[in-house]
Amino acid sequence: MPTAPTKTVKSLSAPQKALRKMGLVRDVDLALHLPYRYEDETRLTRLADAREGETVQFEATVRSCEVVFKPRRQLLAVVDDGGETCTLRFFNFYPSMQKALEVGRQVRLRGEVRGGFMGRTCMHPSVQAAGGDLSTALTPVYPSTATMPQAYLRKAVQSGLAHALRLGAFSETIPAGHAPAHTWPLAVSLQFLHHPAADVSLGQLEDRSHPAWQRLKAEELLAQQLSQWQSKRERAALRAPQLPRPHNRKGVWQALSAALPFALTQAQQRVVSEIAHDLARPQPMHRLLQGDVGSGKTVVAALAAAQCIDAGWQCALMAPTEILAEQHFRKLIGWLEPVLTPLGLQVAWLTGSQKKKERVAMLALVASGQAALVVGTHAVIQDKVHFKALGLAIIDEQHRFGVAQRLALRQKLSDDFTMGPETAQPLAQATREPHLLMMSATPIPRTLAMSYYADLDVSTIDELPPGRTPIVTKLVAEFRRDEVVDRIRVQLTEGRQIYWVCPLIEESEALDLRNATDTHQALCEALPGVMVGLLHSRMPQPEKKAVMSLFVQGQMGVLVSTTVIEVGVDVPNASLMVIEHAERFGLSQLHQLRGRVGRGAVASACVLLYALGEYGRLSDTARARLRAMAETNDGFEIARRDLDIRGPGEFLGSRQSGAAMLRFADVAVDTDLLEWARHLAPRMLDDHPELAATHVARWLGGKSDFLKA
Ligand code: ADP
Ligand code: MG
Repeated sequence: MPTAPTKTVKSLSAPQKALRKMGLVRDVDLALHLPYRYEDETRLTRLADAREGETVQFEATVRSCEVVFKPRRQLLAVVDDGGETCTLRFFNFYPSMQKALEVGRQVRLRGEVRGGFMGRTCMHPSVQAAGGDLSTALTPVYPSTATMPQAYLRKAVQSGLAHALRLGAFSETIPAGHAPAHTWPLAVSLQFLHHPAADVSLGQLEDRSHPAWQRLKAEELLAQQLSQWQSKRERAALRAPQLPRPHNRKGVWQALSAALPFALTQAQQRVVSEIAHDLARPQPMHRLLQGDVGSGKTVVAALAAAQCIDAGWQCALMAPTEILAEQHFRKLIGWLEPVLTPLGLQVAWLTGSQKKKERVAMLALVASGQAALVVGTHAVIQDKVHFKALGLAIIDEQHRFGVAQRLALRQKLSDDFTMGPETAQPLAQATREPHLLMMSATPIPRTLAMSYYADLDVSTIDELPPGRTPIVTKLVAEFRRDEVVDRIRVQLTEGRQIYWVCPLIEESEALDLRNATDTHQALCEALPGVMVGLLHSRMPQPEKKAVMSLFVQGQMGVLVSTTVIEVGVDVPNASLMVIEHAERFGLSQLHQLRGRVGRGAVASACVLLYALGEYGRLSDTARARLRAMAETNDGFEIARRDLDIRGPGEFLGSRQSGAAMLRFADVAVDTDLLEWARHLAPRMLDDHPELAATHVARWLGGKSDFLKA
């Protein structure tokens, strides 16, 4: 039994291990592993009736069978079903196969039949003796891996299902009278989907509109909603420090507001007050702040930090890269230091590449509480860092942190949570957590937000600061590169600065580097007298900083880089961005890169240089991405198109980390079922908590932790 819980991992066979790897551990997991298609072995088809490319089962007599060596070694047999002949071709074969295909034998064959120039052919059909019983149900084909034979998986699922049904493991959990309309009971649906009757419409099964499929999707969506509502409620039971906005005029908040060189946009004001409201409450905030690149999230973060510091607590600000962290550091220091210093408070800096001595000093500042604000990369959440009184953690570009990092962060935050300043109300260790603000420039389309992010509160900045001129995006074929360089020359004479981004080639960092260095050299030669800098991921940190600061200060005219500038770099004087091999970048990545220009009042442009592929054309998805970039500047529209192009799995990236991803339901298609689940979940938690618990355990097992990351 692949699911026997008493067996130790050591004694598992290879296919058993493969089952485990696929997450198929319990009987229930196996029973919920549903076919993605079916094969019809319930009937025999006449060759004359087989449609081109159709997979059919037919019986025929072997007319000839021989091994031929041209163009390569293969077994070639011709069979005849009384109406037509068909050539069978095998590139891998055993002597037993030749035996089964002896001339004159009657065989039952199953495979994809094609009508070629030379008559009908069938590659690698399955072969058995003719005349056996026909199946009475469609044969399920399960999602599998390369090492897992379909027959083994079929048997395992079969026995898991039978066992689970015998034990009543699929009792109804949806409260009576609340099942979505036109769906079947769960146990019936499962039995049916694993063994549909021969006469059922394959179409309804394949597009998953069948009532049995609808039920499975509904159950899955309900599990997801329940688990998210649950974590939302668990959080509501936790305690966080109350960080009210101060009313006196001497606070950090007031001073920061007064010192800002601009007025907040209406959208910024709205999200600032949403956050301020949350921070003042005794429950931990869990808020996602989304806003397009350049919409001004940093200042919102700074104001939240100020509110936290005013209440006597520490704030941590984390960014996924050192460059970005440094940007925050510089900007926030510029804004906050003049205000913090008189209060005896400081800003601390923690990164991976820091010198030991510096790091020790910073750690001491953090532990003593003297560092009111701690800025850095994920080094901030490492074991050795202890806060005196962490009240608020802010994560910038949260989607770039992996699931594991985010889980570690939350763990760390609750482990490390200290008593806070002497004046604070003591909080019980087990139930306290700081507030959490996540920021993202990749807006989440509504349907995804409703399903995957149902446990988060979302604030949206839907307005750019005034005075920005829209960025003009141009698609330019690689062979017109020289014209682009001419354009750069013109921009430089007008005192502007230029970014030139080279693609990241995942397979080879070396190639990546060569690409960037070649371009750098070519531009140096083409632009004598201009400082052209190079920035790539393998440069030592101090060197990166030096290059970056020359560009920020305006001495450097052109900056060639790999994607290290993807997020956060803010140089208002840069007005042209060239992206080389734009066809290799993802859509949201292109949009983020483009957001590096258009930050000042001058008209800005983005040139997407593309190279045609092997066959002189772009792939369909590359074309769709480039077209989207040329057609819109709106981050929400871009996100919607990105979702269309990539599907939710890739769009969400590691958040759902495979395991907890929806397998059956598609939130873009199953909107009615999603609404149903959203409506039922909180009521079920109130009125039928045991059913809710059974439902979540059945569907998510041990995976529900990942949903909370
Ligand atoms: P992002 O949301 O991409 O993180 P930033 O916070 O880096 O955007 O802001 C982009 C630029 O806009 C920065 O130079 C910032 O100082 C400026 N900015 C932010 N808010 C305003 C505003 N209300 N008016 C004018 N400029 C603003
Ligand atoms: Mg930012």
